[in-house]
Amino acid sequence: MGIRDEMISILKINDENGSVMFGPVTVAYHCDTFNTRIIKGFEDTLGYEHARELVLTTTEISTYDPLSDMLNAKTQGMSFEDSLKVAFDFYRVIGCGSFELVELKGKGGKVKGVTFTAEGWLENETKWNWNARKEPVCHVEAGLIATVWEVLNKLPKGSVSVKETACKAVGNPECIFEVEVK
Ligand SMILES: [Zn+2]
Repeated sequence: MGIRDEMISILKINDENGSVMFGPVTVAYHCDTFNTRIIKGFEDTLGYEHARELVLTTTEISTYDPLSDMLNAKTQGMSFEDSLKVAFDFYRVIGCGSFELVELKGKGGKVKGVTFTAEGWLENETKWNWNARKEPVCHVEAGLIATVWEVLNKLPKGSVSVKETACKAVGNPECIFEVEVK
């Protein structure tokens, strides 16, 4: 067996947090600590709300088109809830965290998740003595959820707002995202 086949044979996707692993070693959990440093830089210079909006919108813009192509092909004829499961599984496979629908409310809903950003922030607090956070930090994930909602409902970019109301990085047991169609 060549190295390539050998590595593929030990490749695992961790459903708990949506990380991709070779055996016990995490290889894709989207640069958790690195990403949090970028977010910290934005928040320190732009302020929390502006930084949140910038990161969320940038995530939406960069994922909308590739995700549209993939999801349109994979979810034809499926219900919204089943399509959402496909989309969230795709995020797990690429190491973007683990999300689950809690409930649908009108055109919006509530999603919970385990995210690389919250884990990364907590790691920085432990290893690099960062201060404890007071506000949620998962702006990238809010953007990922907004994009999925827009694509599956055939809505344009920017038509869904996602607000993180609880976050593991501030001590909540999990991250909670409230989704609303504007
Ligand atoms: Zn969070």
